[in-house]
Amino acid sequence: MRATVTSVVVGLATFAFVTGFADFGSVDECDAERLGRRAFGPLSTIYTVEGGELAGICHGVDDPTVYDAWSNLTLFTTAEERSPIVGFGGFRNTSQRDVLAYATALDRDQTRFMIVVNLSMVELEPWLVRRTMAHEFGHVLTRSAAGVDSNECGEFGCVSNTNYMGLWVDRFWSDAELASIEAGGYHDLSGTADRCRANAGFPTKYAATNPYEDFSESLEFFLFSNRVAAPVSPRIQFLSSFPELVRMRDRIAAKGYADTRQFLQNCGV
Ligand SMILES: [Zn+2]
Repeated sequence: MRATVTSVVVGLATFAFVTGFADFGSVDECDAERLGRRAFGPLSTIYTVEGGELAGICHGVDDPTVYDAWSNLTLFTTAEERSPIVGFGGFRNTSQRDVLAYATALDRDQTRFMIVVNLSMVELEPWLVRRTMAHEFGHVLTRSAAGVDSNECGEFGCVSNTNYMGLWVDRFWSDAELASIEAGGYHDLSGTADRCRANAGFPTKYAATNPYEDFSESLEFFLFSNRVAAPVSPRIQFLSSFPELVRMRDRIAAKGYADTRQFLQNCGV
């Protein structure tokens, strides 16, 4: 998930907020009430997605703003890469106005995903939507892992020794950092602040929330070709080692959306 803009460096938002729906078991992608819990209100529009392309409306009204948001996802992914996504929805005017977007698995095996966006954000801050879609797609990437037993799917997504998240945790999260999450929880604010202050490798404060957010925040900076502080560079280099991710980055650059400004670490907020 990604929420509000509280940490701003060179004018760009870096703060987000997340949870998973691992407790849901299985959810119909057209269930606006259930899927809207994270937005604290029902979704206004849901499209089904087939073969990585928007298909019919399965809930609510046809809404061009949803197409706008979707187009930011198609900017850097192929239809095949988007194929785990089976639903794409939006909401407006709920009590939780600072939630920008979230990605959720619809089944326990984490093979079917839904991305939901705050349509007010799409209308007000188009640049932020691009980055938010990259962040959310990062969650889909790390939570889907072919061949992994569903028993291995948890808060980090489906973790194997060879998938993105397994490698990420091995490489960038120390035993002490992982232990602090076990003790404090996956969304513990004070633990996040402590980890961020102690380790300049996190690209943002929010990245120190858990490995899952760390990957999505880092992927966002990688995909938009942002310069990063030196301690963050190993994360960007790691992502650069995957040709499929490099292709996504290059598609963004080819369309003129690369942003080479540097993001500075900021744990103070
Ligand atoms: Zn997130």
